[in-house]
Amino acid sequence: MKIMNNSAIEVIGYDKCTGCYGCLNNCPIKGAIEFKKTEEGFYKPFLSEECIQCGYCKEGCPVISKVNGNKKEDLEVYSCWSKDKDIVRNSSSGGIFSELAKEYLDNNGIVFGAKWEDGEIVHCGISKLEELKELQKSKYLQSKIENSYLEAKEYLESGKKVLFVGTPCEIAALNTIVNHENLVTVDVICHGIPSYSAYEKYIRENFNLNIKNVTVDFRNKDNGWENFNLTFKNKDQIIIKNNHRQDLWFRGFLTDTYLNKPCYNCEFRTLPRFADITLGDFWGVPAEVKNSEGTSVVTINSKKGKELFENIKSSLEVKEVQWETALAGNPCLYNYKMNDSRREGFYKDFSNLTFNELHRKHFPFPNPVVSFIRRGLGFVKRRLLKVLRGA
Ligand SMILES: Cc1cc2nc3c(=O)[nH]c(=O)nc-3n(C[C@H](O)[C@H](O)[C@H](O)COP(=O)(O)OP(=O)(O)OC[C@H]3O[C@@H](n4cnc5c(N)ncnc54)[C@H](O)[C@@H]3O)c2cc1C
Ligand code: SF4
Ligand code: SF4
Ligand code: SF4
Repeated sequence: MKIMNNSAIEVIGYDKCTGCYGCLNNCPIKGAIEFKKTEEGFYKPFLSEECIQCGYCKEGCPVISKVNGNKKEDLEVYSCWSKDKDIVRNSSSGGIFSELAKEYLDNNGIVFGAKWEDGEIVHCGISKLEELKELQKSKYLQSKIENSYLEAKEYLESGKKVLFVGTPCEIAALNTIVNHENLVTVDVICHGIPSYSAYEKYIRENFNLNIKNVTVDFRNKDNGWENFNLTFKNKDQIIIKNNHRQDLWFRGFLTDTYLNKPCYNCEFRTLPRFADITLGDFWGVPAEVKNSEGTSVVTINSKKGKELFENIKSSLEVKEVQWETALAGNPCLYNYKMNDSRREGFYKDFSNLTFNELHRKHFPFPNPVVSFIRRGLGFVKRRLLKVLRGA
């Protein structure tokens, strides 16, 4: 007799499913799981008739099986950036990913990361330096992992060294599937992934375009690292360049209006972190360890991570900092819970209102007078803290 409800998705349910593709990579039956976009706009697993309820997918699901061999004692925290100005310009923050990737690509290794394909984001492995550009920069949409964890495993078993970059839940899924001395994992400090449906509606209604033809540079640095723009392109033609504070879609992302459900209470923002190395933007970085073109916060989480970081250190400007200093501007680094109060209303109105109406109703820009007062109070608070610390 078949045991029912034995698959990962049936056990955890769609609200807890991160869409990490771990179950797919651990399922022995071809065609038993298919990933489809939900109405809310996230790729999630759906079972077919082929599923034999064997339950193996539970072992690949990081919500059920947590595999983390790192130790808190190995934690080191740095502010850093690449010495190569072109790399910094073509990266979201300080270009550390590219320096790590170069180390692999120069030595016959493979680098897995996220790139654009047909207007969406997919994971892939690259082996040539010319391909690095496609993986550079953050793409603030869910990356479709497909069989990338298994592909990485195959490369490792064939003797290749592999660097794998992803969100923390993706790295946690990878850990359940591969444990190899030649694998180094890197995760990003993760604010969560926003909905493809919201993105698609924004592009369709505001630019009259099918997302298949659109790519976005989410981190254009023409106005600097902290004041970055979003550049929307139709094929190679720029449609519009919006400052991130003014772009309506980015406003919805930053106000946590349409993130994937588990991102609000993410269980992968932990210590020790799941990856060997963690990369993020060093928001709020102290002036003495800052590069205004782009500063990364890097946490080294394991001995393997430290070894790799030591190998690329000569290409970087590096300053060690306290964990608390990094955490102050990057709450998503550790145990951060987000406010989901806008989400339900947004999805309730989703098909009845235009994107711009949804924006005005659910995530409007703050009143400029209130913002001015808030900024003023923040300034006074910072000054007071400085005086008190100096006292
Ligand atoms: C969805 C998302 C949310 C983030 N949220 C925060 C945050 O709240 N705070 C913070 O400090 N930093 C956040 N980051 C990380 C930050 O934006 C930079 O990616 C990081 O600082 C690395 O920058 P870099 O200059 O070293 O390299 P970059 O060249 O910018 O490297 C980016 C790396 O991330 C990978 N990547 C890009 N998009 C995706 C994706 N959708 N899924 C998986 N991997 C991807 C690329 O393959 C590449 O390896 C987030 C990144 C992503 C992808
Ligand atoms: S066949 Fe087994 S591993 Fe695959 S989805 Fe069904 S229960 Fe999960
Ligand atoms: S492995 Fe990932 S995609 Fe599959 S059920 Fe678990 S959380 Fe969802
Ligand atoms: S916030 Fe957590 S659950 Fe959401 S994408 Fe990032 S790591 Fe995954």
